[in-house]
Amino acid sequence: MKTEFSLAQLADPDIAEADKILRACVHCGFCTATCPTYVLLGDELDSPRGRIYLIKEMLEKNRPPTKEVVKHIDRCLSCLACMTTCPSGVNYMHLVDQARVRIEKEYTRPLAERALRAVLAFVLPRPGVFRWSMRLARLGRPFAALLPAPAGVTASPTLLRRIKAMLALAPRRLPAPGPTSGSVFPALGPKRGRVALLQGCAQQVLAPRINRAAINLLTRHGVEVVLVKDEQCCGALTHHMGRDGDALARARANIAAWTMEAESGGLDAILVTASGCGTVIKDYGFMLREDPDFAGPAAKVSALAKDITEYLGGFSLQPTQQHGDLVIAYHSACSLQHGQKITQAPKELLSKNGFVVKDVPESHLCCGSAGTYNILQPDIANRLRDRKVANIAKVKPDMIAAGNIGCMVQIAGGTSVPVVHTVELLDWATGGPRPGLN
Ligand code: SF4
Ligand code: SF4
Repeated sequence: MKTEFSLAQLADPDIAEADKILRACVHCGFCTATCPTYVLLGDELDSPRGRIYLIKEMLEKNRPPTKEVVKHIDRCLSCLACMTTCPSGVNYMHLVDQARVRIEKEYTRPLAERALRAVLAFVLPRPGVFRWSMRLARLGRPFAALLPAPAGVTASPTLLRRIKAMLALAPRRLPAPGPTSGSVFPALGPKRGRVALLQGCAQQVLAPRINRAAINLLTRHGVEVVLVKDEQCCGALTHHMGRDGDALARARANIAAWTMEAESGGLDAILVTASGCGTVIKDYGFMLREDPDFAGPAAKVSALAKDITEYLGGFSLQPTQQHGDLVIAYHSACSLQHGQKITQAPKELLSKNGFVVKDVPESHLCCGSAGTYNILQPDIANRLRDRKVANIAKVKPDMIAAGNIGCMVQIAGGTSVPVVHTVELLDWATGGPRPGLN
């Protein structure tokens, strides 16, 4: 794609990066076929190619974002299916991230929407505050039926519609908190490694059992696990809202904490059980490339970050329990398959450890979770969830496995089949408790 940035514009490293990305696009349109919003809405401007044009116009002409641009960028899930499909290697992720930052800085959203976004950006990354908000949401659940039902796909769902979506996502009961920050879990038997395990923010409130299973599985196989003190939310949630100040501050705090841990006790990897977080941590090196103090450490942290299934792929696990022919529908989270290109490791681990693993039809399509998307765009998110659940039902599973808490909550909202984390199944296979019973 031909671009016309001025030399002055290209002096800005972000614009220079956007220019490189835009030039790689040959507008072939292959990406449209796998874009969930294009598949659902059929509007070119809700396709990757259409959004690329909108972003190009905005950046090149140095125009403030218009309502129309914001509508179509807001509808993008950042699922990155377009990046998997693109034959020219267009880095849509870095382009849309940049567009979101510009929208956040230069576009004034309606007051109610600004307030909702501010609340989400404040609450979600803080587990203590999030826990309290979930308790409040539980009290509000009975009133959800009184709030407006979906009225088709609108450019900007009303505040009440979004509150209804939030209440629907709140769990009926909250589990007890999991292991505390600063804890060290020694390896059982001969030690073969030492890792940090990302504690996550929403995950540690909604499903602390996931990291408990990860710790049990790792220590049982000789790996010492550290929950690094002073670690924060990875910044993914605010990063996807264009709030780069917040996201970068969190990235720097984490890099400092993990670097200190790596230098004092040694770390073979920083393991992540929520793939949405893993994709962003692996991008810290890029996000902080212009920061003279953090560029080097950020690149090192990104290199150390691994999805837990990526790390376990090098292990020979010791299955101790038989599960008969338990059929597992494997839901490939977008952040894992498109963001990190991890497609086989989780399925291979499950198969090797006694499960019958089934691929889900249309597995490239997002389930609609996408960070805060299912709150901010509930109607599109619900349609994607229903399509995902219908596809999952075709393989008649006993359980559904996924590697991302956002997807787990989203899919569980549309099915009675237990939805568990891949690592819970691996823990069960090697001596842990059966998942899906709590
Ligand atoms: S597939 Fe890639 S090159 Fe083709 S239009 Fe989409 S982003 Fe551009
Ligand atoms: S990230 Fe997903 S929703 Fe956004 S343009 Fe790409 S394929 Fe479409």
